[in-house]
Amino acid sequence: MKNKSELTVIDIKPRGYCKGVVRALQIVKNTRINNPEAEISILGKIVHNRYITEALDYYNIKTIDIPGLKREELLEYVDQGILILSAHGSSARLIELAKAKGLTVIDAVCNDVVSTHEIIAEASAKNKQIVFIGKNNHPETEAILDNFPAAHLITKLSDVNSLQLDPNKEILITNQTTLSILEIQNIIQKIQSNYPIAEISNEICGATRVRQEAIIKHSDLDALLVVGDPDSNNSAMLAQIGREHGIGYVMQIESIDDLIISDIKKGWRIGVTSGASTPTYLTQMISDYLKQVNLDQPQAKPEIDLTKILD
Ligand code: SF4
Repeated sequence: MKNKSELTVIDIKPRGYCKGVVRALQIVKNTRINNPEAEISILGKIVHNRYITEALDYYNIKTIDIPGLKREELLEYVDQGILILSAHGSSARLIELAKAKGLTVIDAVCNDVVSTHEIIAEASAKNKQIVFIGKNNHPETEAILDNFPAAHLITKLSDVNSLQLDPNKEILITNQTTLSILEIQNIIQKIQSNYPIAEISNEICGATRVRQEAIIKHSDLDALLVVGDPDSNNSAMLAQIGREHGIGYVMQIESIDDLIISDIKKGWRIGVTSGASTPTYLTQMISDYLKQVNLDQPQAKPEIDLTKILD
């Protein structure tokens, strides 16, 4: 839509919540509704978005998240009540430890993440060597490595040089669900050039894939705004793909508060998208503001209402 400030704002679709995030948030909300008085804690962020964490806090649902600590270490900070485990998946040992503490455990893991665990479990049972491509210190990777400590973690292309596998034994290459569809291809090809027998199970989930493909289709934009938490890997990948496809101005912002309106130039075609864990309310607020902003005399930005984050 063209507006008086001569910006063309394009709402890139699909964007925002995926089925796994919708499910995880519904589980949290239902847990509070069904247990109005209970102490409810979430181990790590339920999904990677600070505003969701703050909105849950508003409903007295505590997120236990201390930078640098693994999930098992965070568990030491929960002594009673209901413990909800995040959409990123948890190790079997973590679940057992939580139950052993007398906590009521509710697992909000995404079914796509469960599927990756099952694929690795099946391959491990057949004595295959596992190569897992994932982000260091990401909870999804942490749970995979806890469940399958023999897996070889590859975090970037250069890690492949130090990979030492038995070429006479079967190999399975698989990956974290929210990686870049472009970056992972290079890593897989390099592993396969060293180990041609390696089989691949590409586990980038459908939600991640279609959001990334939508950016590639809009690579003729002047600018791209990706609304997403700095810790959200799938948001970071959307911004990375935008840059790799030559979009001149790409910014990942948490909310309208981070929008630098003086950067935006008249006449731009500007796309707005968001990661799978970003509330629609935050993204729509930015689209709506840009569609009516006067770039010569920008209006005050609207205030964020935490009670609307979980809508
Ligand atoms: S991004 Fe993919 S794997 Fe992660 S919660 Fe959403 S659907 Fe599940």
